[in-house]
Amino acid sequence: MSAEEFRRHGRAVVDWMADYFERVEQLPVLAQVEPGEPISKLPAEPPESGRPMEAILADVDRLVVPALTHWSHPGFFAYFATSTSAPGIFGEMLSAAFDVKALLWRGAPAAQELEEVTLSWLRQMIGLPKAFSGIIYDTASVSTLHAIAAAREGLDLRVREDGMSGRADLPLLRVYASEQAHSSVEKCVITLGLGQRSLRKVPTDAEFRMDPAALARAIEEDRAAGHLPFCVVATVGTTSTSSIDPVPAIADLCGRERLWLHVDAAYAGSAAVVPELRHILDGSERADSLVLNPHKWLMTPFDLSVLFTRRMDLLHRAFSLVPEYLRTLDREQEAVRNHSEYGIQLGRRFRALKFWMVLRYFGRDGLAARIREHCRLARLFASWFEAAPGWELLAPVPLSLVCFRACPPRDGETADECAARLDRLNEQIMHAVNASGEAFLSHTKLHDCFTLRLAVGNIRTTEQHVARVWQLLREAYERLDPAGGG
Ligand code: PLP
Repeated sequence: MSAEEFRRHGRAVVDWMADYFERVEQLPVLAQVEPGEPISKLPAEPPESGRPMEAILADVDRLVVPALTHWSHPGFFAYFATSTSAPGIFGEMLSAAFDVKALLWRGAPAAQELEEVTLSWLRQMIGLPKAFSGIIYDTASVSTLHAIAAAREGLDLRVREDGMSGRADLPLLRVYASEQAHSSVEKCVITLGLGQRSLRKVPTDAEFRMDPAALARAIEEDRAAGHLPFCVVATVGTTSTSSIDPVPAIADLCGRERLWLHVDAAYAGSAAVVPELRHILDGSERADSLVLNPHKWLMTPFDLSVLFTRRMDLLHRAFSLVPEYLRTLDREQEAVRNHSEYGIQLGRRFRALKFWMVLRYFGRDGLAARIREHCRLARLFASWFEAAPGWELLAPVPLSLVCFRACPPRDGETADECAARLDRLNEQIMHAVNASGEAFLSHTKLHDCFTLRLAVGNIRTTEQHVARVWQLLREAYERLDPAGGG
């Protein structure tokens, strides 16, 4: 492609994107397709000869867009709502143009050093001490995997050299996380060969926070049984309810018991850039590691997850393996950190570029203003439930997530009949709202009850969008349960 053609098509793509963001609200937020439908419209055979860019772009409109669930739609309230932003998109475009594979400092000095600078800025913005340094991975699941691997390396059990299988000298290694912790923690222990049995799920209190007394009892029991506790994962902003584990008390316990403390702040950690919300990370300054996903709530396009740790040395010990062809023969080796020695991947994307552009474009104030507004919208939404009979909140709202359900009373029902009816009703309400194309909600289960979740986190979401969901919910309720909702 000539430079002239590149300019022409590039402008067309940027125009396309600008139009997309202008019209995204008119598109149905949830893809209106059945499984297999997108595949059925695409040729099964690979293209023999090339096609013009215009035709390919037209096919994006014709084939791709109708099969998208639009995460950038202001009515996207499912999971943890997130969104990209213009500086982040430009960063991705430039990164694709540079196409560096940041495996060694020498091969990508800007990528390695921009990563160190942006993560130092982020560390300062969320108030973590200087003893922490950061590294970028793709997702929180992978960040947590590396944190637990470093914790295991710190046990000096020669797992790196001898593995874990067939070893009679190894006790059962224990990782602790609350029963509300993200499933990625369980996947990590599976992937690291520790086995699901090594994860002990600690009970939570009435507000879905880990119970530190129950954690202390679990550790004591495990030690008495000859197991080897080594890591606790505390969550700041759980996935189901955004509850915040009592990290100061957990950090005390980890200090006394000499356990690695990993804080999963994948979603909520970003809120610590807001000065009045900084307290959510209280206690985390005593952690060994912490994960925060800028791709969740810092307006950064997927993917970008940050692992902060004060034990980079252990991460290095667990993952460094340098074959001859990657040895750096010049003298810079001492002064630089080759990020590929701190993880599974060799080649790494230049993710820091988009993050650097996001941080510079918004500044701390700009990011804080948006997160503060998202929390305000969530509190406002929650306040409407307090005044509405037949609805209830099912968890506190510390940040930008609201958990709720419709709960119309009915005479003469057993508790089981009532629970089944409410689960059915709320599931139907969720499907009705999602079928509208104007909003997309997801669900969880709390105390075994089907629970609707509204997560605010999209850069385009305003009070009007939140008010519209409330209206859609009430209309669905009135239609599906005229006696309760009418
Ligand atoms: N931890 C928490 C608290 C989460 O909410 C999530 C995802 O929502 C994850 C971890 C996993 O994130 P990722 O998709 O980046 O692996």
